[in-house]
Amino acid sequence: MAHDPIVTERVRDRDSLEPHFVFAEQEGRAAARLAEYRAAGGRPNIVVILFDDVGWGDFGCYGGGVAVGAPTPNIDRLARRGTLLTSCYSEPSCTPSRASLMTGRLPMRHGLLRPPMYGQPGGLQGEVTFPSLLSEAGYVTQAVGKWHMGENVESQPQNVGFDDFYGFLSVSDMYTEWRDPYFFPEIVYSEERTKWVENLAFNKCFVHATRGGETEDVEEVTIPVLSTLDDKWAAYSLDFIRRMAEPARDERQPWFLYHCTRGAHFDNYPLERFLGSSPAKHPYKDTIIELDDIVGRLVAELEATGQAEDTFIFLSSDNGPEMETWPDAAYSPFRSAKGSTWEGGQRVPGIVAWPGMVAADRATDGLFSQMDLFNTLLRLGGAEGSIPFDRYIDGVDQTSFLLDEAGESNRKFVYYWLTNVFSALRVGEWKFMVASTSDDDRDCLNLGGFTGVTQKYSHGRLYNLYLDPKESHSYMIRKLAYIDSFTGGLRDHLMSFGKYPPRQPIAAMS
Ligand code: CA
Repeated sequence: MAHDPIVTERVRDRDSLEPHFVFAEQEGRAAARLAEYRAAGGRPNIVVILFDDVGWGDFGCYGGGVAVGAPTPNIDRLARRGTLLTSCYSEPSCTPSRASLMTGRLPMRHGLLRPPMYGQPGGLQGEVTFPSLLSEAGYVTQAVGKWHMGENVESQPQNVGFDDFYGFLSVSDMYTEWRDPYFFPEIVYSEERTKWVENLAFNKCFVHATRGGETEDVEEVTIPVLSTLDDKWAAYSLDFIRRMAEPARDERQPWFLYHCTRGAHFDNYPLERFLGSSPAKHPYKDTIIELDDIVGRLVAELEATGQAEDTFIFLSSDNGPEMETWPDAAYSPFRSAKGSTWEGGQRVPGIVAWPGMVAADRATDGLFSQMDLFNTLLRLGGAEGSIPFDRYIDGVDQTSFLLDEAGESNRKFVYYWLTNVFSALRVGEWKFMVASTSDDDRDCLNLGGFTGVTQKYSHGRLYNLYLDPKESHSYMIRKLAYIDSFTGGLRDHLMSFGKYPPRQPIAAMS
């Protein structure tokens, strides 16, 4: 019988680790499977494919696809061959999210509360990333595509755990928006302002770097070059996958590929062969078609090189849809969008596949945070002993949730933070909210970055995400029996910041 997350107690292994559920039977079964795999095949390769600003509802397997003018057959197939997570959570925006995935820590702990833009200082430096720990444990580590966790040298991928990086350090729009007369006529048609942007201290190129070295410019990211980036980056990852399979099977090193696409962040300028390829005939949707095709190519290469059964794949998006740039924007059936702690901001697609090890044809609503990858991937890589104890880790080990066919989530609460303001917690179907962005329709319909007004609720609001996934009816007055459980979870969480104070290299914009 399933355990009820509301009434089940958690176990805290250490002060510095998020407490988690321990379900002895599923843990035993998962541990046995993993041990059996290790005995036969060593350690799995790991691929994390992270899209940018793609919504929960964009793929067919989530009810989108053909229904929203962009079929996604390859992603849907991957979901059928693996497990579909319906309650997978990111943070509300690119940089906080990506840094949380890398470190297993909430933005309030790693300090990247909002994206650094146009060469602003600050980044991942000083944090411990799971690729650096996998690397110490013998993994080859490759990052491809979008980085956006700091452009300063100490925060660049080749200095925080990756052997090799091929991609850009910031975010799509920063390279091109000021080159497009449709968005920035006052810059494009002014020689002085064009010169001024060109002299801003951010690199206009996508780059290549190897461990510990300096970045080398590959190509300036003009608008025509931007159209080709996802194709070029896919080719680089395909080549990496091929090279890793060159040695005989028992001589191969396990590897980790972090493949982050440019798409489908605004502004989308589709590659020529995908232009107009979607039934919607829209640049965003054409880009979804290309991203789906890239997933197909990556999976096909794993199969062609005989590595599919030795490779754990996680596919997701770094945050919800960016609605400020609609219609160059994603689809989510939930309330609001990127930049908010409503479900639309943080609930993202999450597909896990590992043939023979992760159940096929399975969908689960168990809570999963992208931060859980930190603990889970270190465990899969046999490096769980390297999790640092000098800092708080918000991720929990979800190995048994994912490797056991009937596995339940090991996570009790999802915590929502609106930069440095605590917003909400979810347990089971309930979401208890003490602060959020404005209810003003003019904000909520158009949210995207960090717009809107932060408001605090004197008495909290309570939403039932099964009955009311759009969070439109606070249920609080009828459900006071739960209140101690929610406030207790909230209090424990906030108290963890007493012993492990927040760090803020990139402060929230006030
Ligand atoms: Ca993003």
